[in-house]
Amino acid sequence: MTSSKHHSDEAEQPQTLYAKREKIYPRIVLGFFTRLKALSGFILLGIYYISPWIQWEGRQAVLFDLPARKFHLFGLTFWPQDFIYLTLLLMIAALALFFFTSLAGRLWCGFACPQTIWTDAFLWMERLLEGDRPKQMKLDRAPLSFRKFRIKATKHSLWVVFSLFTGFTFVGFFVPIHDLTQEVITFNLSGWETFWILFYAFAVYGNAGWMREQVCNYMCPYARFQSAMFDKDTMIIAYDEKRGEQRGSRKRDTDYKAQGLGDCINCTMCVQVCPTGIDIREGLQYQCISCSACVDACDDIMHKMNYPKGLICYTTENVLNGKPIHILRPRLFVYAGILLAVFIGISVAISTRSLVQLDVIRDRNSLFRETGKGLIENVYRLRVMNIDNQPHIYDVTALGIEGLQLFIDRQIEIEAGAVMTLPVRLAANPDLLTKRSTLVTFQLTARKNAAISITEEARFLGPIVRH
Ligand code: SF4
Ligand code: SF4
Repeated sequence: MTSSKHHSDEAEQPQTLYAKREKIYPRIVLGFFTRLKALSGFILLGIYYISPWIQWEGRQAVLFDLPARKFHLFGLTFWPQDFIYLTLLLMIAALALFFFTSLAGRLWCGFACPQTIWTDAFLWMERLLEGDRPKQMKLDRAPLSFRKFRIKATKHSLWVVFSLFTGFTFVGFFVPIHDLTQEVITFNLSGWETFWILFYAFAVYGNAGWMREQVCNYMCPYARFQSAMFDKDTMIIAYDEKRGEQRGSRKRDTDYKAQGLGDCINCTMCVQVCPTGIDIREGLQYQCISCSACVDACDDIMHKMNYPKGLICYTTENVLNGKPIHILRPRLFVYAGILLAVFIGISVAISTRSLVQLDVIRDRNSLFRETGKGLIENVYRLRVMNIDNQPHIYDVTALGIEGLQLFIDRQIEIEAGAVMTLPVRLAANPDLLTKRSTLVTFQLTARKNAAISITEEARFLGPIVRH
C-alpha cells in the first residue's frame, strides 16, 4: 500500500525533458598545449582576416566572384567547369580529417575548428573585461548594478563589433573587399551584402558567445561519427587512473602512498579549465574536444607537488592497458596512400590544365552546303574561353581532310577571363571526301605562347559518297 502510494506520488511529479544549461566558466591555463593552441588560433584567424586584403596581379588574391562565376586563387582562376577540382579538394579535406583523427584523435576539434577558435577569441575578450573564472562567477551571481551593467554592455558591444567585422570579412571573400569597404563607409551596401554580413555576424556571436560547447555537444555531427575512426591505438587525452587513484587532498611532501593515495590531489583544476565542463577522470567522453587544457592544468599541479608530469596526457587506450604503443597501423597507411594519390592527382591536373577552353558547336540550320566553287562547306560556332590571367590572340587551324580550308571573319582576341563566340566555315573538295561524316580537329593556339593550345574534334558532313 505504501509502495503504491509512493509510485503514484512519483507519477504526479512534473517531468522535464529539457535540462537547463549550466554556464561553464573555463579557468585560464598556461602550458605547452595551450600556447600551441593559441598559436594555431592566431595563425588561422590571421589567415581568415588578412587573406581578402591580399592583392595578386592587380586583383584580390582570393575571391569567389559569384556573379561572374569565377573563383580566383592567387594566380589561378577556376570556372564552373573546374568543379572537379573543388570536389577533389573536398575529398582531400575529408581524407585528411580521417587520417589525422585516426592518428591523433580530435586534433581538428581542439586546435583548428572555427567553433573552437572563435570561442577562444570570445573567451579572451570576456576575461579581458570580467576577469578569470572566479571573478566571472562572482559577477554573474551579483545583483544588477551600474558596474555589472557597464561590464556586460562593454563585453557584448565588443563581441558585436568583432562579429560584424567577421561577417564583413566573410562577405569580402565574395565581393572585392576594397569595394565593400567603400560601400560600408558610404552606407551603400546592397540588400544581400547587408543580409550576409548580419547573418554571419549573428552566427558567430551566437555560436561563440552564447552556445559555445553546446554546438559541439548537440549540433556538430563530427563529434558523433568520429568514434568510427577511433581504435585502441588512436591518440586520446586520458587520465591515468592506475596512477591517480585513490584521489584525495594531502599536504605537499607527505608520504601520500602510505596513506593509500594516488597522484591525483583532487584539486579539480582539470575540470575547471575544461571548456566543455567535463571531468576527464571519468574516462573518455564524446564531449572531450581534445583541447589539452586539462593536460596543462594537471602538469602544472604535478610540477607544484613535485610529482612526475603526465597524470593526464596524450596516450592510447592500449598504452593505458599496459600494451605497447602502435602508431603506424594499416588504416593509417590506407588513408595516407589515398590522400597522397588524390593530392598528386589534383596537383598534376591543375599544373597541366589548359589555359584556354574551346567548344565547337555545329550550325544546326544546315548539314552542309555547296559553294559557288563546288566545294562542300560546313558552318560551326567556336566558343573560346580565355582562362589565363592575361589577354591573348589565338590562331585556329583545322585538320582531318586533305586540302581542308578554314574561313574566319575576324581575329580571335580575348581579354583575360573572357569568352568569345564566333562563326567559322570549313570547306572541302567533295572528291576528297571518303565518308559522309568525317572527323575533323580544330586546333587553337595562343599566338605568343604556343604552350597555350587546345584541340577539339567535330564532324564534317558531306553528300553521300558514290565511288
Ligand atoms: S588536475 Fe590533476 S591532480 Fe588535479 S584533480 Fe585533475 S587529475 Fe587530479
Ligand atoms: S577533458 Fe581536457 S582535453 Fe577534453 S575538452 Fe576538457 S579540457 Fe579539453
